[in-house]
Amino acid sequence: MSATRRHFGRLALPDGRRVFVELEGGRALYLDRAPWRGGSPTGEALDHVDAHGFPARETGARRIAPVDPAKILCVGRNYKAHASELGNDVPVEPLLFLKPSSSILDPDGAIELPPRSIAERVDHEAELGVIIGKRARRVSRDDAAAHVFGFTLVGDITARDLQKKDGQWTRAKGMDTFCPVGPIVVTGLDAQALTITCCVNGQQRQHGATSDMIFTVADLIAYASRVMTLEVGDLLVTGTPSGVGPLVAGDALEISIAEIGTLRTSVVAGP
Ligand code: ZN
Repeated sequence: MSATRRHFGRLALPDGRRVFVELEGGRALYLDRAPWRGGSPTGEALDHVDAHGFPARETGARRIAPVDPAKILCVGRNYKAHASELGNDVPVEPLLFLKPSSSILDPDGAIELPPRSIAERVDHEAELGVIIGKRARRVSRDDAAAHVFGFTLVGDITARDLQKKDGQWTRAKGMDTFCPVGPIVVTGLDAQALTITCCVNGQQRQHGATSDMIFTVADLIAYASRVMTLEVGDLLVTGTPSGVGPLVAGDALEISIAEIGTLRTSVVAGP
């Protein structure tokens, strides 16, 4: 794909402001609103930011999740090997579910495990996230790409025992901190030509190619937009490759796609 790659992040500034930024030439250029809402540079900028949006410590700025979705629409069992590792059939149509926006966790944040009396097994799922750039209602597969703004990394953290027990997945996947997102949003990528990995404590647990998705990003946008309108800024989470497994307090989780970077989170026992 020859589309231009642009890199966007979001910062919490020492003065309390939360700003979307475009990362360019080692600087973070402040935008007046989210880039998918037509944000343009305000003229302010932060120096000392690397290509992945890490502000130098002395700036006092902190990276936060680079998204502001009205909804987070997710897809279950979208890689054959993952469907079979959990003993499920390969779906004949996309299996959709929602995570609440309150589950979003900033990059470098901490996933809070619920007490064991509520859930005993919390799994990592490393996934490609798609940010909708143009309102989508009943769009065709051929038109779907025009509705994509860019891509990010998402952890679809899941309390596996609750997922089975509840039937509905809202509680299992909707807890606070169960949706780490970031570190940045990148435009101009070929959604089906990426490699996603997940490491826990430096050991690789998941490694998958987005070319192995059962339903492509275009398939998912066409399918989902027949059911519900995808609004600008909505986050579509595209399913996890095989290798999911449990997290325990003290773990360090890293989800990576080379073209986007690495989303790092820690894991702690919740209060
Ligand atoms: Zn998932």
